Amino acid sequence: VLVIAPHPDDETLGCAGAVLLHQAEGAKVAVAIATDGRASRTRPCAPSEMANLRRREAEEAARRLGVELDWIGLPERAWTPRELGPRLAAAFARLDPDLVYAPSRVDLHPEHHQVARTLADVPGLERTRVRVYPIFVPLTPALANVALDVSKVAAQIEQALLAHDTQAHNIRRGLRMKRYTARWHGFATYGEEFLELSGAAYAELHRTAPESWSQRFVGVRLAPFRDPLAYLVAIGERRRLARLAADPACDRSGARP
Ligand SMILES: [Zn+2]
Repeated sequence: VLVIAPHPDDETLGCAGAVLLHQAEGAKVAVAIATDGRASRTRPCAPSEMANLRRREAEEAARRLGVELDWIGLPERAWTPRELGPRLAAAFARLDPDLVYAPSRVDLHPEHHQVARTLADVPGLERTRVRVYPIFVPLTPALANVALDVSKVAAQIEQALLAHDTQAHNIRRGLRMKRYTARWHGFATYGEEFLELSGAAYAELHRTAPESWSQRFVGVRLAPFRDPLAYLVAIGERRRLARLAADPACDRSGARP
């Protein structure tokens, strides 16, 4: 299993529970983190120092999750697909994953979009199954076709999230998302939902220019309104992606409940 994270913390926010469950079943899991998170402004320090902090946090989170970390760590907001593509291709060649956890175009974050677009061209993706994970914007039943009850690993998820010390605001939001998913599906504590599809279908859905996808970034700081805003603002893009994913050319067969 290979998790592709645009920033340090996306791996834990997006699919820590799934990662823990895969490992309990004996799967080997690796996490590739594309950028170094230096643009975060949660500490009064230089970008290079923030990048160091976030690398250490990612290493600690990986240790708590028990996964191998592939720190690609390109400078956040100053990288190109030309740089990231070969690094992702190398990870695929080395690890030969069966299942890939990937960011999506529904998340309305420009850097998540660029990573998704770059991943679409990686050789070997077409041999995998892909599970799109949500970070900012819930997939909802409009898109999700896999829902996992991750309640039994709730404490480990929280511990892994707490490793990302500089990102406390994201941790609270991430746990809220997992609680919403649990509530929706009737799970005890936390749930994680994904859109599972073939690697070829993922590539198809993400091969167009990100500029043509919905671009309204919901990373707003209007804290009390943030969750409903994230839900509302993505309705159009969710519908659009659901329509595209329902196309017969886009194979969703084999998706497991
Ligand atoms: Zn991110």
